[in-house]
Formats: sequence, C-alpha cells, structure tokens
Amino acid sequence: MTGAGSFKTAVGISGIWVGAPDLWSFSTLAEVSACPRRYALRRASYPEIWDRPGYPERVNEAALLGTAVHDGVELVLRELSRTGCSSIADEQAVAAIRRLGGYSKIATRCLDEHLQRLSANPRMAPRLDGLRAQIDNRASEMRRGIQALVSQSPAAPNKPERGRRQDGDPVKRATLGEGRHLETTLVAEEARFAGRLDLLVVHSDRADIMDFKTGQPSERHNLQLHLYGLLWQLDETANARRLPVGSLVLGYVDGAVEVEPPSDWGELHDWLRDEIANAESQVRAQSPAATPSVECWHCPVRQLCDEYWDSPFTGGVPDSSFVDREVSILSRNGPTSWLGRLTRDGSEVLLRSSRDCEALALGSDVRILNLLAGEAEELDGMILTMTRSSEVFGPIQR
Ligand code: SF4
Repeated sequence: MTGAGSFKTAVGISGIWVGAPDLWSFSTLAEVSACPRRYALRRASYPEIWDRPGYPERVNEAALLGTAVHDGVELVLRELSRTGCSSIADEQAVAAIRRLGGYSKIATRCLDEHLQRLSANPRMAPRLDGLRAQIDNRASEMRRGIQALVSQSPAAPNKPERGRRQDGDPVKRATLGEGRHLETTLVAEEARFAGRLDLLVVHSDRADIMDFKTGQPSERHNLQLHLYGLLWQLDETANARRLPVGSLVLGYVDGAVEVEPPSDWGELHDWLRDEIANAESQVRAQSPAATPSVECWHCPVRQLCDEYWDSPFTGGVPDSSFVDREVSILSRNGPTSWLGRLTRDGSEVLLRSSRDCEALALGSDVRILNLLAGEAEELDGMILTMTRSSEVFGPIQR
C-alpha cells in the first residue's frame, strides 16, 4: 500500500494514518498523553484487514464482562424510563425488569449481543467460542454487577427521555428536557471536545451526572467526571437553559462514590484547551512519537511498534510469567513443538503449542504475544508455551 499517509509495519501490516479527530474525548486525550504512537496505530485505517475504522481490538474476559454489565445497566434504565419509573424503588420497576426476563437473562442477552458484534473482528472471531466458555462461569457476577449499578442510579423526574439516539442513527442533537438521559453525547463545539455520558439526569434547576465503572476506583475516573461536568456547561445545544451541574457520581459495583466538583471550572477549561493543543501537535506528525513504558504490556497494537520490541518492556508485567518475544523459527521438533532463537540475544528456546500453527514457518522471524515462559532443562534455556491468548505476527520484514 502506498500513498499519502500510508505506512507499513515490520510484520507486513499496512495502514493509513488518520491524524487528529474533529472532536477530542477523554479517552483519546488520555491515550495521546500516554503514547502518541499508540493512539495513531489504534486509530489508523487498515483496509487490507477489514473495512472498519482502527485496528481490530483484542478484547479480554474482563473487558467483555464490563461491557456486558454496562449494556445491561443501560437496558434496565431505558426500560425504567420507558415505563415512567423514576427509580428502581418504584412499584412498576419489578414488573419492568420481569418483562426484560430478569437480571440473569439481561446479562446473557447483553453478552450475546456483544459477542455477535465481535464476530466481525478478525482478531477475535477465532477466539469467541473459548471466550464464551470462560465467561459463562461468571454469569452470576454479571447479574450482580448489573443489579448493583442499577440500584445506585439516582431517581429521575418522571418524564420520558428526549434527545436520545434514534434507531442507530447518529446522535440527534437536541436540548435535553427534564428526565433521565442514557448514553448521551455532549459536544463543546468551541473547545472541540465531546463525551458520551452514561447517565445524565436533568432536573428543573440542575443536572446530575453519573458514570458506571466495573473496574477498580481510579483518580482518572474523577477527572473524567469533572470533564463531563465541564462539557455539560459548555454544550449550548443540550444545555440551552444553562443549568448548572448538580452532583457528580461514580457508580462502582461495590458502591457509589460522590465526586467533589473542581474548585475552579475555568482552570479546568484552560487545562483542557492546553491538553487538546498538545495532543493536536503530537498526532499531526507523520509517525507520532512512541514512548515505551511498563504500560506497553496493555497496548493492543504493540505487535506493530518497533520501538516496543527494541525496549526493555517486552518481559510482561511484574510477577507474571507471560512475555512477548521475537523468535526465529529454526526447526520443527514435532507436530506442536519448534526450536527457535530469540532475535534479541540469540539464545535458543523451545516453543510449544497445543495445536499446529502455520504462522511458525521454518526460517521465518515472528513476533509472538502472550507466551508463557518457563525453564527448559533439556535446552539450558527457555521453554515458551503458546496459550489461548497468544498471537503470532509476521513474518518480520527487516
Ligand atoms: S507498544 Fe508502547 S510505545 Fe509502542 S505504541 Fe504501544 S504504548 Fe506506544
């Protein structure tokens, strides 16, 4: 692939840089701040792989569970709004949840829908059965998560939701009336900042904002909520009546946490302006800077990043036996075992897998993610085992 903005990676995958977005979000700013190259590689287009934007995501069990819980909460709260329930404590609420089949059915339905969406992802399609089997054991955890988060959502004026997405069409921008608004996109045109709020409850004199989290509490969540509060104040369409922010709440499975508003919204606005200017300058480069760190282990595009493979961070997270390695395939020992040499230090390794792997062609150099590392006595070296989460990329073209 050639042309303006196109690039080719060492593992033979080509893409086209997409540059800066029209509107920034909390997650895109955070990603550029962590590593501009990661942002650029994730969002580039890869027409030789698929026709969707960005590099296909690798979704793990925890992320899948989190998405299913999140979707389940949205489904229940939408049904409560549709039936005019102001909160889960309303008499009608039990019947509304029963109509959806109960919490367990809701969890399974949301999981199935998400797995269905992932079937179009070439990186995930071969793994969906295994993932499904793993996560089926956690159905009760999903049900409890949905139930806990729904119970924390604040009471809303008993009015039908307006200004919500319509049948999958782009978000209809409208002034948001009193009531509960789910998955609402707010836009600050001048600041070029947008965000999708899990739950916005508009009252006659204020708006309460809540974000649902299935992971552990983090300072980043507070900043995200502050930015959503700012966004509500800057969105002249959704908040045409200029209502102030009421409460800011983070809903965790273990309990809701009220977040203090920032002491100075103007300072936060200035900070946001600087962050966006900085992010713009970082991603404007043809090949945005790579900043390897311990965080690379969580980077879903590290297989494409040469700087990562030259860095000291391919050894996995501390106290874990999982590593990433570049390996030259020297010979085949059996149907599921190969002798290889690490390209970094030339040491020999024994590679094992539970199945045949065409990508491990003799004479080729490959990048393998998520290998389980152990000692191989017969080799006086390492034994590297491919697991369900391992991925092979290559051959490397140097
Ligand atoms: S592997 Fe690390 S340095 Fe490379 S893009 Fe990902 S986060 Fe950035």
